[in-house]
Amino acid sequence: MRVPVPVIVASENGRRGILAAMPLLRAGGSALDAVELACRVVEEDPEDHSVGYGGLPNVLGEVELDASIMDGATLRAGAVAAVQGYGRAITLARRVMEETPHVLLAARGAERLAAELGEQPQDLRTEEALRRWRERFLERGLTPGATENLRAVARILTQPLNLQDKLYQAARPDTLGTVNFLALDAQGNLASGVSTSGLGWKYPGRVGDSPLIGAGNYCDNRYGAAACTGMGELAIRVSTARSLVLYLKCGMSLLEAGREALRDLLALDAGEGQYMNIVALTPAGEHAGFTTVPGKQYLFQSADMDEPQSAPRWMVA
Ligand code: ASP
Repeated sequence: MRVPVPVIVASENGRRGILAAMPLLRAGGSALDAVELACRVVEEDPEDHSVGYGGLPNVLGEVELDASIMDGATLRAGAVAAVQGYGRAITLARRVMEETPHVLLAARGAERLAAELGEQPQDLRTEEALRRWRERFLERGLTPGATENLRAVARILTQPLNLQDKLYQAARPDTLGTVNFLALDAQGNLASGVSTSGLGWKYPGRVGDSPLIGAGNYCDNRYGAAACTGMGELAIRVSTARSLVLYLKCGMSLLEAGREALRDLLALDAGEGQYMNIVALTPAGEHAGFTTVPGKQYLFQSADMDEPQSAPRWMVA
């Protein structure tokens, strides 16, 4: 049997994660270990304001993390949602998968598990993230921390200010961001990992697609793996990641499957600047990225390449 060449695929912000995980894959490590390590490197990076430590806070100024991991060999999965005070969300997700009978733990329950398992508590708010949170209030004429009508405040904060801002948001949003990693190891196993601090300035407890298996993350050794970035509310409503994998199962090519998964979103009343991106990887090591907005890239590296490369995503408008 042909031995697969290991490969990692990631969203645009995954370069450091790929660099950390590739040696592990080259040494015969598992896809599951690779995606966990890669996500963790990005979670620990304070410069990435969309994931882990330094992630953008919710409307109250609290950082809440979502993450999920899936093993393509067994279809086992673990996830955490709306976790505060623990930075290694992907590791916690894996521990949910491996050390509990559950798939998804949220908020207080996930934090309780983290404490029981000896995970290190951590203040996830950086000065920079809090400064941006404060500025967002001030530029909209609100008082930071104003909570009289939290629903209205969260709506105002997440809306673009004007047309220019809307265009900017569509091209390079300042309130979204997530990291995706898909890996194929030398044993032919696939794994997928997703980690995020979710939508900046969100209503407390808001959970996006990233920790929802089927929506933002799906992986099956037989057909392929897929993961999403973008407006999670969209991917949740049409099960974007699982749809792509299901289209592969139905016999579509990778290109057709990715386009069809994005075409499913066209039925939704997506608002201005609400976009979706997918990365996908097949058991044969074929990969692709898909997007609903122009100019988006994704990253990949196979074990025979010296460094990660970026490639354009196929666009469905
Ligand atoms: N999908 C993430 C969420 O909705 C955010 C993102 O990918 O930009 O929480």
